[in-house]
Amino acid sequence: MIGKTTICKTCGNEIPRVSKRCPKCGAKIYNVKMVICKSCGEEIAKTANRCPKCGAVQHIIALSIAGVLSAFIIYLIVKIIIMSLGI
Ligand SMILES: [Zn+2]
Ligand SMILES: [Zn+2]
Repeated sequence: MIGKTTICKTCGNEIPRVSKRCPKCGAKIYNVKMVICKSCGEEIAKTANRCPKCGAVQHIIALSIAGVLSAFIIYLIVKIIIMSLGI
């Protein structure tokens, strides 16, 4: 569900997302950066490692770094094989 409201962390009241301060208690609202889950479309916190709704892993950057690393390792192995062949 993509709502236009958020929950005040101070008093727990549901308040409009656009508000800078909670209309109930006056506490300053720190809007957590939200992203859309690529798997189920649910709006989730950007800092979340996994979607709380469907459990899909969200940090694609970390995955791509792992992909680059494994590609580099494969490149090194291929290079060692070529060197060992004595070409
Ligand atoms: Zn409040
Ligand atoms: Zn999801």
